[in-house]
Amino acid sequence: MFKFLENRIDKTKKYSYLLEKIRNIDFNLKKLSAKELKEQTNRLKSLLNNGYSLEAILPEAFATVKEATKRALGIEMFDVQILGGIALHEGKIAEMKTGEGKTLVSILPAYLNCLNRPGVHIVTVNDYLAKRDAEWVTEVYNLLDIRVGLIQQDMHTKDRQKNYNCDVIYLTNSELGFDYLRDNMAIDTNNVVQKTFSFAIIDEVDSILIDEARTPLIISGPSETKSTKYKKATELANVLKNTMHYEIDEKNRNITLTDNGIIYCETFLKTANLYNIQDPWAQYILNALKAKELFLRNRHYILRGEEIVIVDEFTGRIMNGRRWSDGLHQAIESKEYLPIQKENKTLASITYQNLFLLYEKLSGMTGTAKTEETELDKIYNLAVITIPTNKQCIRKDFFDLVYKTEFSKWQAVAQECFLMNKKGRPVLVGTTNIEKSEMLAKMLEAYKLKYNLLNARPKNVNKEAEIIAQAGRKYALTISTNMAGRGTDIILGGNAKAMTKLIIISFIKNKTDYKNKRQLTSNILNQKIVNILDEYKNKIEIRSAINENLEAYLYKIITNKNLTNIQEIYLNEFYSKILKELKIILEKEKREVIKLGGLHVIGTERHESRRIDNQLKGRAGRQGDPGSSRFFLSLDDQLLRIFGGDKIKQVMQNLDIDDNTPIESTILNKSLDNAQKKVESYFYDIRKQLFEYDAVINTQRQAIYSERKKILETKFIRNCLIEYGQSTINEILSTSSNNDIVQYKTFERICKLFNIPLSLKIEKEDLLNVNTLKLFLYEQLYITYDLKEAYLEQLKPGLTRQLEKYYLLEQIDQAWQEHIERMSVLRETINWRSYGQQDPLIEYKNEAFNLFLDMTSYIRQTVVYLMMRSRLITNLNKNS
Ligand code: ADP
Repeated sequence: MFKFLENRIDKTKKYSYLLEKIRNIDFNLKKLSAKELKEQTNRLKSLLNNGYSLEAILPEAFATVKEATKRALGIEMFDVQILGGIALHEGKIAEMKTGEGKTLVSILPAYLNCLNRPGVHIVTVNDYLAKRDAEWVTEVYNLLDIRVGLIQQDMHTKDRQKNYNCDVIYLTNSELGFDYLRDNMAIDTNNVVQKTFSFAIIDEVDSILIDEARTPLIISGPSETKSTKYKKATELANVLKNTMHYEIDEKNRNITLTDNGIIYCETFLKTANLYNIQDPWAQYILNALKAKELFLRNRHYILRGEEIVIVDEFTGRIMNGRRWSDGLHQAIESKEYLPIQKENKTLASITYQNLFLLYEKLSGMTGTAKTEETELDKIYNLAVITIPTNKQCIRKDFFDLVYKTEFSKWQAVAQECFLMNKKGRPVLVGTTNIEKSEMLAKMLEAYKLKYNLLNARPKNVNKEAEIIAQAGRKYALTISTNMAGRGTDIILGGNAKAMTKLIIISFIKNKTDYKNKRQLTSNILNQKIVNILDEYKNKIEIRSAINENLEAYLYKIITNKNLTNIQEIYLNEFYSKILKELKIILEKEKREVIKLGGLHVIGTERHESRRIDNQLKGRAGRQGDPGSSRFFLSLDDQLLRIFGGDKIKQVMQNLDIDDNTPIESTILNKSLDNAQKKVESYFYDIRKQLFEYDAVINTQRQAIYSERKKILETKFIRNCLIEYGQSTINEILSTSSNNDIVQYKTFERICKLFNIPLSLKIEKEDLLNVNTLKLFLYEQLYITYDLKEAYLEQLKPGLTRQLEKYYLLEQIDQAWQEHIERMSVLRETINWRSYGQQDPLIEYKNEAFNLFLDMTSYIRQTVVYLMMRSRLITNLNKNS
């Protein structure tokens, strides 16, 4: 085994020494008692305290996890899993195929790293996976005295805090992001939930860092709506003329104003600059034009009462409750003469890119990352290491077949399903959207084939576990959209454990009806299983409370070795008996399926990235199983039409073949790969640009958040306000004058701002000497502040500190929110305002910097201003 690995991987060869060492230590650990194994954690911690590095204790820490996994789950980790763990510890991306056991791999680096930095985050794509993984491996951590936390969407603050306080925390990327944003909006340290950002291991890392990188996480709240602006813009859009005043770019669904158009608008609106950040018009006009030209009633949206309801372009489904952002929805409401709904204002936002860059160390795992190696390296500084499979992958990936028309392609797909199904081979067909999955389903009905459909329609989503558990069975034919791609493991012959659970759940939910043929699992109920069901029919009583979360309850029962309650013991027995019978049936079926060639995967379109195609292919041929894949394409496919159809069309024409004959050639596959690479790099550029622009606001966000955090955590913040006052004085005095009248006006302005009595006498020469004036004003600031403090303390002891914190946080938050809005207007319009050779990014950076300075100086001034004017305690109550 070891030799086999060494021969196959060059890059990982250097790790052979480590593997050997881990194996030797593991051998010795086997002799330890449970107590001694637990003691390992303290032992390793003390080694770290005595100056050993994480690298030095890695072999022993990994061996300890390996032994604990063996004892807790009965699973012996493979060498390739250890290699994956090393790559993760080194802050890399471990590319490991589906079914190679990544969930266990992540325990290795998580354990090692939490020894000196508790709070390792293991990040997954959804709540279900986070929970499933955490529950599955908790026992391993328990044996090692490591506390495991789990964050779920519906958790309250206190529970979140408790869980974030653990050594290793399982959570989703979106909970992580929202908690980060919410923490930075907290007005009390008691509401802060997160601790540190030391080390994150991201599962399905490509999905999170690449697919989701295009849309930021946003926390929003309602804000004022400027309905008059929308109406005026609509009025204006109605008189503007295409090509003369504006140009339409249909491919990118964008509209740009011509120079003529800009002049016309500025005259119409009587404004000097459409792009003025303080009073922006451009966005309103462009949205009104988009509403006029690109968003059509009964195609992109429908009217329902006084509401604009979006229609999903791909599926044709109505998207209830969704609204287009950045004022577009309001522009359409205005076009349709409907009441204009409230805008949603961004209160805080962050992209995943920047969120994950907060970590001191980052790593990730996925089945598919190599194709996006450059991006992962350039943006996140993450190298991709391909870890070999435990058993060699023997899946056969056939060349793509290309048809002239979409119709002939789908016919061929149906035909292939038919042929495979006739033999009994399980088939998984991947489609790009709901509509297509349903169309294929209809075609298969014509062939009288039985299939299972998995797509985003709620009635199908609920059956996901059932469908996937059986997708590897003989004759199984599964049609699935992309959604079924992640976190699913198709086992040849069927997944005995998952199916046992399904049978039990349906039995408990509907005791009298458990032989019902409508259940997908019903065809497995042979006489032996039916006998078991009959036997337990009267034994098992499930109270209605448990019914609600039957799956979790069942999980608890089957993993608990020390049950005492008789009902639970029955249930456990019941589970084991059915599992035993099912295993016999499914093992036999597995052997048959293997003989037939394993799972066959059919792709019906190439995606925008090879990575997504590889994911689909990867469903077949797991852990050395046989399997195959084939993609069916047509010249009408989007990828071929937009990126490289001509060349391929030419080849097809030259060959002069009919519609139903596909071509399968290496030349064609090369052009297809190139077309796909073009799309990949197109999207990469978009993400890169987003990243570059986002980096600007990210630096600002970090500065603001760190100032905010300092304020939140400081008890005595008087100095901060005094500093703000001094800076404001310096700023205002920086434009000093030699003229005593002008200078007096400045003096007066500062006094008014800080509520310093104007009756103060000041000599003319002091007024003209900036330094003296500055010191004088500083002094007056201290005195006025002290007086204010004495006044407030007399009203209520402690009130000053309370008010200071309140004003500081309130003003920072408000100013930051307004700043985000200005920045988004700036971003929208920057390409417009740059002329000549100037790089818009540089201009954006400069402008953003100025806006930021304005904001900080505004915050400083306002906070001191408000503080100096606080009078009545009732005001505070009202405000807070
Ligand atoms: P991945 O995320 O890589 O697709 P999972 O972590 O979901 O894989 O594991 C897939 C299956 O492989 C699980 O059922 C798990 O129990 C099993 N598994 C993992 N590691 C091993 C191992 N070393 N030996 C046997 N089975 C394993």
